[in-house]
Amino acid sequence: MRKICDFHTHSFFSDGELLPSELIRRAVDKDYAVIGITDHAGMSNMDSIIDNVYRDCQIAEKYWDIKVIPGIEITHVPAGYIAQCAAYARGRGVGLIVVHGETIVEPVEPGTNHAAICSGMVDILAHPGFLSQEDARLAAENGVFIEVTARSGHSLTNAVVVQQAMSAGAHLLINSDSHAPRDLMSKDFSRRVGLGAGIPLDHIDTVLFKNPELLLQRIAASSRTSFK
Ligand SMILES: [Zn+2]
Ligand SMILES: [Zn+2]
Repeated sequence: MRKICDFHTHSFFSDGELLPSELIRRAVDKDYAVIGITDHAGMSNMDSIIDNVYRDCQIAEKYWDIKVIPGIEITHVPAGYIAQCAAYARGRGVGLIVVHGETIVEPVEPGTNHAAICSGMVDILAHPGFLSQEDARLAAENGVFIEVTARSGHSLTNAVVVQQAMSAGAHLLINSDSHAPRDLMSKDFSRRVGLGAGIPLDHIDTVLFKNPELLLQRIAASSRTSFK
């Protein structure tokens, strides 16, 4: 697989600008192989996101040459409730669960990174800010993917994230966290985001192409064929 895989984007079912269907169409136009649509979710809107986004994903995937993964981004949920929230999503068949990590530009509750990594239900810890060595080690142990983000603000700590994840052996991914059409990445831009964050040249293809395949295998194993 040599096309872009982007596992973190938003539609207007949370704070993105586009209908899921338009977001997917624009990803096809950008030559994406895979797009995950992961709208911000807490327990208040979880069911409506799952129901609404899933329909467009199913239809788009049937007619267009792209793999579409409906997911969620658990966002500003109390750290103590993240495992239950993720378990609820998994119970409804959500195959891609992202947690909105401890970015330094928002007051995310300290302990959110740790709760996500230890929940056993989370696939990607997004923009984790000052990821600790202990959490990076646990992420490696639990198979949680750590995000290097193209999103401004959240990306301020990308260098720390890369250093901690790589020294612990945790898998990295580069995601756009798109909220608007202009945020979707070209392959070249995605590569530059990774290299700019300090991913070594001899490791960048692993992050861009091999790690997404590992995540796709994990998603295939955990998701169901239809939502409940
Ligand atoms: Zn986020
Ligand atoms: Zn996001």
